[in-house]
Amino acid sequence: MNAEKLILEGNRVADSIKGKLMDRITKLSKKGIVPCLATILVGENPSSKTYVRMKGNACRRLGMKSIRIDLPADITTDELLSQIHKLNHDPAVHGILLQHPVPHHIDERTAFDAISIEKDVDGVTTLGYALNAFGAAKFPSCTPAAIMAILEYYELQVEGKHAVVIGRSPILGKPVSAMLLNKNATVTTCHSRTINLEDIVRLGDIVVAAVGKPNFVRGDWIKPGAVVLDAGYNEGNIGDVDFNECLQDAYAITPVPAGVGPVTIATLLKHTVDAAERSLNS
Ligand code: NAP
Repeated sequence: MNAEKLILEGNRVADSIKGKLMDRITKLSKKGIVPCLATILVGENPSSKTYVRMKGNACRRLGMKSIRIDLPADITTDELLSQIHKLNHDPAVHGILLQHPVPHHIDERTAFDAISIEKDVDGVTTLGYALNAFGAAKFPSCTPAAIMAILEYYELQVEGKHAVVIGRSPILGKPVSAMLLNKNATVTTCHSRTINLEDIVRLGDIVVAAVGKPNFVRGDWIKPGAVVLDAGYNEGNIGDVDFNECLQDAYAITPVPAGVGPVTIATLLKHTVDAAERSLNS
């Protein structure tokens, strides 16, 4: 039954992205530049700590630099802004990543928007988001870009397909909807107020799950032959898609872990190298 299934292996896509960076990093280092990603973590959220550590390790493995700024959970928005401004003005820093979510008392939108557009390697600023909607972003959000990279790597057709995105967050559901639309898919974006969600998902030639609920998408929601991309990453390494159930009818599907996650990190590294190269010309 599963013989013809295509498992979309994130590590293969990530290796392909990272493989193309090595040469570029070497060329930059000959010019005295080491691409550097600064990550800011506010508070002690254990998942966020893991993500930030993984991103730092990935940088170092590729010969890039990473600066980690850990801030206490009770920091004010102004104090956070001042840290971001310092990084904006540091010529040795090429990319800035403020780990989401920040504690509730902090104005996350203002903090995201304080990141210089030149260093907004995760596409979180309002301007970066708008440029992405126009198909003109230098750095689209990394997870949406990773989803598009998987589709491209496996040569899965997007044009003319009906893509159903479950989730409308500004870092994931909305930008990936825009990117699919810009690639000529017909896109339906679903959210918590969507009525008849399951019936809408059943129309999807491409289904993107970005909900944040473990095993949320069930096997009998999947149209036979659909491509299923699971951006979810819930406690215990569980995706938003019930993999075993959805595998039955899907043509292609990403696993969790080792699906969208590694490609997201590789995309972040790529954006940081892009930003370092651009800094040479500015
Ligand atoms: P989020 O900000 O919490 O957004 C979740 C979205 O799902 C919201 O738009 C929400 O709708 C919608 N939703 C919630 N319950 C729903 C329901 N019952 N039916 C339909 N829609 C529902 O989450 P996020 O930041 O986008 O992240 C989504 C998932 O992706 C999480 O598992 C997260 O860990 C994962 N993630 C993975 C990566 C990666 O690298 N793989 C990166 C980022 C995030 P409303 O807007 O109506 O509330």
